Amino acid sequence: MTSGPPSWRPGHLSGAQAVPQHPELEGSVHDLSDALVFSVATRWMTAQGDDQKKLTSTIALWLVREHSNELPWIDLRWNEKRRIDLTRYRVYKIVREAVERGFVQLNPPQAVKRAEAIYQHYKLDPKWNEIRIVDVTEDVVNDMVARATAETALSLIKKLAIQNAVVAKEAGKSASDAEPIGIGLGAGYSSLAVISHLAKLLKTLPSYPRLRLHALTPTIQDPMLSPVTFFRLFDAADQIEFVDLPTAATVPMRGYADLKVQDENIARAFELRHKVQLIISSLAWSGDPHGLMQSYLKHHSRRPKGLEAGRFVGDLQYLPYDEQGPVLLNDQIEENGPSEPVLSEKQNWRAVTLFDWPDLLHFHDPSPRGTANVEMGGGPNRYLLISAAPCRRCHRSKWRAISPLMRKMRFWTHLITDDLTARELIEERDLRHSNDE
Ligand SMILES: [Zn+2]
Repeated sequence: MTSGPPSWRPGHLSGAQAVPQHPELEGSVHDLSDALVFSVATRWMTAQGDDQKKLTSTIALWLVREHSNELPWIDLRWNEKRRIDLTRYRVYKIVREAVERGFVQLNPPQAVKRAEAIYQHYKLDPKWNEIRIVDVTEDVVNDMVARATAETALSLIKKLAIQNAVVAKEAGKSASDAEPIGIGLGAGYSSLAVISHLAKLLKTLPSYPRLRLHALTPTIQDPMLSPVTFFRLFDAADQIEFVDLPTAATVPMRGYADLKVQDENIARAFELRHKVQLIISSLAWSGDPHGLMQSYLKHHSRRPKGLEAGRFVGDLQYLPYDEQGPVLLNDQIEENGPSEPVLSEKQNWRAVTLFDWPDLLHFHDPSPRGTANVEMGGGPNRYLLISAAPCRRCHRSKWRAISPLMRKMRFWTHLITDDLTARELIEERDLRHSNDE
């Protein structure tokens, strides 16, 4: 999917004049200071009148007269007209840069009534399972659901920062010695989109919170969609501890327990997972060829046998489930008898994940419901966010994969989706035509 405004083409500038003569002057708007980017965006967005061309010229003139020495694309020896010409068409880019840096937030409208209808339809308690529905046109739906998920994550991070500071204080420590906020990052296109937005939003906070970022899976399919590569999006390295999951991508099911102690780094990841307080993930419908599990089944021979036959309706970070709940696959030990050796080709395989179903099912409520967080007024004190827009590639809806999470598997705390998917969840039928690839 493409995003962002169409690129502006400097039609009125041509030939040598349009291109800076000195290669060292090809500086970009990325090099501008935060203050200058913010000022340009503010001028652009708060200006009266609708003559954009005039507004662009006014801002370019102001930039050149007041801040020439901060504009990397101009040479101070040039005359003013040339400086303005080369600055004018960058005004649009600077506004876009302000959005990129998180100074301008898009607040998509929310379908509050539709969310209420879902709470009623599935008899959900919003205190434990909160639904956020963005009401936007289909062309921007993926981006807006990702943004809304990132904003929800940010508000929970702020809450957790306070929670951890309180715990530190109660233990007689200072707030700066509080536990970092543990965040588990999922794999996939949707998770990547959410995490890109979140990384930008975090930079806008007055003080960067201390975080411990976990990869929920090793690289199982596409390295670019693997959580460990999402670490690069966060650039406050001194405030963040990164916890990779440096294991093989797949393992025989009976080898999963041993794997956890195979190596110090792996053991550390599994030890620290108990401190994860926020999980950011997406999910996929099994009828969509682009989901993580479908992609794994298609490309790996060492895969969980039995799932191919349509024994699951969806997966969350390679953990399959059907309408009744998690699909727990046999590792074939029972078939062979506990004492008989199992040949490797007879073993069932699985993708390695930091959390398995038993851990996830009680993620936000580890103790019997209601007792975990009584002093804080009830409700969860760990959060699991699911971003559930249609597939980015084929636009297939995920409603069939969301439905079991509404009925039986309420281990999540926040689910962010779009209005059409929400209608599908209420009417329990397809309302969207998908494009097959
Ligand atoms: Zn798809």
